[in-house]
Amino acid sequence: MFNEEIRFDKPLRWGMIGGGRGSQIGYIHRSAALRDGLFQLVAGAFDINPDRCVDFGTNIGVDASRCYSDYKVMIENESKRDDGIEVVSIATPNKFHFDMTKAALEAGLHVICEKPLCFTVEEAEELKALAEEKDLVIGVTYGYTGYQMIHQARKMIENGDLGEIRIINMQFAHGWHSEEVEKNDPGLKWRVTPEQAGPTYVLGDIGTHALYLAEVMIPELNIEKLMCSRQSFIASRAPLEDNAVVLMNFDNGAVGNLWVSAVNAGGIHEQKIRVVGSKASIEWWDEHPNQLIYEVQGQPKQLLDRGHGYLYHDDQAVTSDRIGCGHAEGLFESWSNLYQRYAIAIDAKIRGDKEAGDIWYPDVNAGLEGVRFIENCVRSSDNGSVWVDYK
Ligand code: NAD
Repeated sequence: MFNEEIRFDKPLRWGMIGGGRGSQIGYIHRSAALRDGLFQLVAGAFDINPDRCVDFGTNIGVDASRCYSDYKVMIENESKRDDGIEVVSIATPNKFHFDMTKAALEAGLHVICEKPLCFTVEEAEELKALAEEKDLVIGVTYGYTGYQMIHQARKMIENGDLGEIRIINMQFAHGWHSEEVEKNDPGLKWRVTPEQAGPTYVLGDIGTHALYLAEVMIPELNIEKLMCSRQSFIASRAPLEDNAVVLMNFDNGAVGNLWVSAVNAGGIHEQKIRVVGSKASIEWWDEHPNQLIYEVQGQPKQLLDRGHGYLYHDDQAVTSDRIGCGHAEGLFESWSNLYQRYAIAIDAKIRGDKEAGDIWYPDVNAGLEGVRFIENCVRSSDNGSVWVDYK
C-alpha cells in the first residue's frame, strides 16, 4: 500500500518554469507535486507573457514578488534568498529545456524536466555530466510509468513468467491532429515547428513515451539496429512527421516495432505495449491502465487488476497502490507516484543520504535514451529509411 506518512522536516521549496494558464501539462505537474505534501509551490516563471504569469501565479497562491517575468531572473533572485527554491519543474515548449535545465543545475537546483529532455545526445550527456558533478537530481516526466501495472509487468518479465522475450509491439497513435488543427490554434503550432519542437514531432512528443514503457518493463533490452519511416500526412508539417513506423532489432535477438501517429483518425490515445515471450504475452493499454492482459499459450486469457493480492508484493505495483483494488486510479495517481519518488530522491540528496535516494524514477538516463532514440530514427529516415546501427 502507498505510504502517505513519508514526510520531510519541510516540504521541498519548488518553482515552475512554464505550465501557465491554459497550458496542456502545467496542472498535472502541480496536482502531482502538491498531492502528498512533499513540495510547496513558492515561485514561478509560468508564462512567456509576464503579465499573465503574475495574474496566473497569484491566482494559484504564489506571492506576486515571486512570479517572475523570466526564468533567468527567477533563478538569480531565488538563489539569493535563504528560503529560495530547491527544485524547479520545466514545462515549456521543447526548445527551452536544455538552456533552462542547464541554468538551473548551474545554480544548484534539482530539476524535473518535461520530455524530450533536449534536442541532441550531446546536450543530454552534458546535462547528465553536470548533474553528476553537482550531485543533483534530474527527473524526466515520463508520466505513464508511475502506473502500478507497468511495474507488475516488469516484475513478471524479470521472473521469467513470459519466458524468453521475442517481440515488443509498441504504439502511441492518436487522431487529434488528422487535420491541420494548428492553423486555427497557434498554441499547437510550436509542436510542428522544428526550431521549437526539435528534430521530430510525434517521435519525440509521444513515441518516446511508448519506448520508455518498454525500457521500464525490460531494463536490460538494448536496441542494436533500427529502421524508421516517417511521413508528414499534413504536408505543411514537413520536415516534421505526424506519423512514423520504427522497426528495431534488440541485442538478445528480440525484435520490436513502434507505430506513432497524430493522424490515426478516430484514435483517442491508443498507447499500448504488447510483450511477447516464448511462454506467454502481456499487453497494457493506457486507456485501461489498471489492467494488464496476461495470455499464457494454451490457457484462457487473464485480466490482472491493480491492487490485488496476486500481484508481486515486493514491488512498486503494490507500494504505489493508493486506494486498494476495485477503485479506479488514473494518470493523476501515476504522476503523483513519480513526483513522490522525485521528492524522495531530492530530499535524500539534500540530506546526503545515499541509501534513501537509491530508488527507481525516470531520471536523466531516461531523458538521454529518449533523445538517443529520436536521433537514430532521424538518421535512418533521412537516409532513405535504411537500417542503421544504433549509436
Ligand atoms: P503548451 O504550449 O500548452 O504550454 C506551454 C507553457 O509554457 C505556456 O504556459 C507558455 O506560456 C509557457 N512558456 C513558453 N515559453 C516560456 C518561457 N520561455 N518561459 C516561461 N514559460 C514559457 O505546452 P504543453 O503542451 O503544456 O507542453 C509543454 C511541455 O510538456 C513540452 O515539452 C511537451 O512535450 C511536454 N508534454 C509532456 C506531456 C507528458 O505526458 N509528459 C504531455 C504534454 C506535453
